[in-house]
Amino acid sequence: MRRLLWFRRDLRTEDNPLLSFEGELLPIFIFDTNILEKLQKDDKRVSYIFHSISKLKEELRLLGLDLKILYGDPVAIIKELHTLYSFDEVVASGDYDAYARNRDLEVSHILHCRYLQDTYIFRHDEVLKDDGTPYYVFTPFYKKALKVLENKNLKPIHLASHTLLNEEYKGIFSFDGLRFEALAFRIESLGFVPVSLNFQTLQTKIEALKEKLSSYKEQRDFLDIDATSHLSTELRFGVIGVRQLLRETRSHPQGEAFVRQLIFRDFYAYLLFHLPYIENKNYKYSFNGIEDVEKYQRFCEAKTGVPIVDAGVRELLSSGDMHNRVRMIVASFFTKDLLLPWQWGEAFFAKHLLDYDKASNILSWQWSAGTGVDPQPYFRVFNPYLQSKKFDKECVYIKRYMPELKNIEPKYLHDESSLFSMNIEDYPKPMVYHKEAAKLAVEIFKKRMELVG
Ligand SMILES: Cc1cc2nc3c(=O)[nH]c(=O)nc-3n(C[C@H](O)[C@H](O)[C@H](O)COP(=O)(O)OP(=O)(O)OC[C@H]3O[C@@H](n4cnc5c(N)ncnc54)[C@H](O)[C@@H]3O)c2cc1C
Repeated sequence: MRRLLWFRRDLRTEDNPLLSFEGELLPIFIFDTNILEKLQKDDKRVSYIFHSISKLKEELRLLGLDLKILYGDPVAIIKELHTLYSFDEVVASGDYDAYARNRDLEVSHILHCRYLQDTYIFRHDEVLKDDGTPYYVFTPFYKKALKVLENKNLKPIHLASHTLLNEEYKGIFSFDGLRFEALAFRIESLGFVPVSLNFQTLQTKIEALKEKLSSYKEQRDFLDIDATSHLSTELRFGVIGVRQLLRETRSHPQGEAFVRQLIFRDFYAYLLFHLPYIENKNYKYSFNGIEDVEKYQRFCEAKTGVPIVDAGVRELLSSGDMHNRVRMIVASFFTKDLLLPWQWGEAFFAKHLLDYDKASNILSWQWSAGTGVDPQPYFRVFNPYLQSKKFDKECVYIKRYMPELKNIEPKYLHDESSLFSMNIEDYPKPMVYHKEAAKLAVEIFKKRMELVG
């Protein structure tokens, strides 16, 4: 058998089911121009992927495989490779958003495709209700998922013996019309600027996580404590496999709260698979926010005048990350206090998050907007001042990202009326009165709910 091993969301050799195949193999990674064309030239994710595939290339070399790094439209590239070398099949891990599904469908018209379950813990048809239909509510999904997990084989995959495609495939480099790594394996050749990222080794992160597990449940929401794994980007690109992470954490006496979050991640991908239209549309309520470019601009520039919200935006812009609790506060403020369309907020996060994942991001934004599958109704509105008082009491997080507020006492930064009455140099007054804005949002949603039904 002659196979193309297509690395996509599984950029690792450890416990990667792609490497359980025998026969003649050609491992490839494709820098997809359909995606790259939409990104800014200093997009951090391109640097992250670049770093990860360089490492993957080294690791594969130790196994006797040579990763080919390609650039172009994946369907066209696979078609050309197949014409040149007649593969029996392409093997890849499943990828479920609308773009990925269409792309994979097109590839399946070219040659046989075998999609593996790797990115998530469960296949989309593995956790279903007794009547065979999907769950749309997390708690029952979670209970069933735990049962399915008990019987799941989480053992690492067995590395197969393989043969690298022989000499002839060296010709790939000289094939006309496709630009390959031989051009020079540099980010600049893709038209992007390298961005320096703060990389910690996986081992360091996993060891740190094991220390954090006993207090993860109690501390994960606090902004002045480093209580979470920081593994979402590694999970997004498959630099760590979710099965490995389960093996590392499941047996810990207090591992359940962490495993619950991994199952949350699965749940969101599962929902996007079963309800693909929610990528663009509300699951419930016809209200879609009010388009206001000026408000949006102030938000994007971290000038809302609400310290915890602006600190979150600054964290995102500077590091490509934002603490989960702050993501929730920011998304609630955006969709309820500012009444902006959740799709705009989703797109802003999509542009900047290093761990950007369509399913988690879209579903979380719909959750915050109150338009998603979550049974909690529209009237859940976070009070950003109470949130910062509770989770960032001494304003350690706020002041880390907002040096202009460093001399202001924390109690004033958690208090809306103080922020309205003070004149802080280089910092605006809040854009809205929270109570009034929240009341208005609830009234609008209520009317729309009545309209719908
Ligand atoms: C508005 C909004 C947008 C979000 N967008 C994304 C996104 O694009 N990509 C993304 O990976 N996560 C997203 N999340 C979820 C969550 O904020 C991040 O996964 C988390 O902050 C990553 O930090 P961590 O790795 O330290 O998490 P940990 O607390 O250590 O959790 C472990 C892993 O579980 C998963 N996880 C944790 N919390 C959630 C959650 N609430 N929903 C889904 N998965 C979760 C992540 O893969 C995470 O790495 C979003 C949340 C909100 C509220």
